[in-house]
Amino acid sequence: MKDILPEDSGRWRWMEETVHSVLSAYGYREIRLPIVEHTGLYARSLGSDSDIVEKEMYTFLDRNGDSLSLRPEGTAGCVRAGLENGLLYNQIQRLWYAGPMFRHERPQKGRYRQFHQIGAEAFGMAGPDIDAEIIALTARLWRALGLGALRLEVNSLGDAPARAVYREALRNYFGRYESSLDEDSRRRLDRNPLRILDSKEPGMQPLIADAPRLVEYLDPGSAEHFRVLRDLLDEAGIAYVINPTLVRGLDYYNRTVFEWITDRLGAQGTLCAGGRYDGLVECFGGAPTPAVGFAMGLERIVALLEAGGDGGGEGACDVFVIAVGEEAVRAALPLGESLRDALPGLRLSTHCGGGGFKAQFRRADKSGARIAVILGADEVRQGVAGMKLMYETSKQESVGQGDLAGHIARVLGRPLKEQA
Ligand code: ATP
Ligand code: MG
Repeated sequence: MKDILPEDSGRWRWMEETVHSVLSAYGYREIRLPIVEHTGLYARSLGSDSDIVEKEMYTFLDRNGDSLSLRPEGTAGCVRAGLENGLLYNQIQRLWYAGPMFRHERPQKGRYRQFHQIGAEAFGMAGPDIDAEIIALTARLWRALGLGALRLEVNSLGDAPARAVYREALRNYFGRYESSLDEDSRRRLDRNPLRILDSKEPGMQPLIADAPRLVEYLDPGSAEHFRVLRDLLDEAGIAYVINPTLVRGLDYYNRTVFEWITDRLGAQGTLCAGGRYDGLVECFGGAPTPAVGFAMGLERIVALLEAGGDGGGEGACDVFVIAVGEEAVRAALPLGESLRDALPGLRLSTHCGGGGFKAQFRRADKSGARIAVILGADEVRQGVAGMKLMYETSKQESVGQGDLAGHIARVLGRPLKEQA
């Protein structure tokens, strides 16, 4: 579990704000969900033989003896909240959520025990048009974040009966190689052979590549849904590759699945994973409700932003106020307040804690501010302030305190607040 330090948090905030603005451009509204749910919720939605439920959840008994878990993902909680609050019945909903998720995995680059996701879920729409829209939304996100080329992989899982037939075919196929399967895959052979396709085990990859393909088992309705989706993506100019081994090994996931992948982060290259889950709301006791969504891993996105040098490196402030001596310290607080009033959004830090000009200038340097405002006993007596542009060789100027806001506005290229 990692701390996100001030030097990185600017990049995080910028990334989150960019994502929020793209989500609202498509009509998604935020839902805020608890971090803890009943363990049964995840057992039911993810399946008891999923990696997450089997070995990754932080599960504990509370004081009443109820089994609770830190949320490992957001979709289950979102569906529960939607059902409990009557948001899903016979309605169209586009929702998004953000926050920490918890999985007890082996920590490594791009894989942590507390990580963060932003997820979106669209309820009440059955057609491939919303699948295409949600993929277009994610494509716009990468552009807004300046992430460069990512690979979009898509596949169709078909409906449950077709998948049952396919599952048998897989069981036969992998059964023939039972002795060469790793332990996890052997266990999955009986319970859910689809999950073998999702194995990260390098030794399993050749066998997986030659396995029977789900696309050949698709029911006609799902095949048509997939055909139209591909059409819509082509029409929108969104490039993709069909990856026949892309799966979610759970029963109410159906039809569309997709992932956005980068080659620049090593093995943990999936930034965003999504798909259709028309069976989940019903499985939680609601009326049958079509649904499609995605979740993106924020640590991986930030890592990619860092690799490209984007979206960060912002200092803490625009203006740094240096105040030397008792009179100056007394004048600095009201001066700072009046500048913040006059320039909405201005980031101004005042040096606090005393010290001479030299030490305070060093702080001003470190702050990343473009402008230093200097107050000493002389300035206070004359009702002026020194103003120095930190990144230029120009000399310090003396400015009347009443004119300071106007000068700062010009340097920063910002409007002054209109006088009432
Ligand atoms: P993986 O195949 O990498 O284990 P997953 O299928 O478990 O991923 P999802 O449950 O689909 O992942 O989660 C969506 C996204 O959340 C992933 O694509 C990834 O970006 C991110 N993610 C998942 N687990 C972690 C983790 N432990 N640490 C950091 N990010 C994660
Ligand atoms: Mg995982």
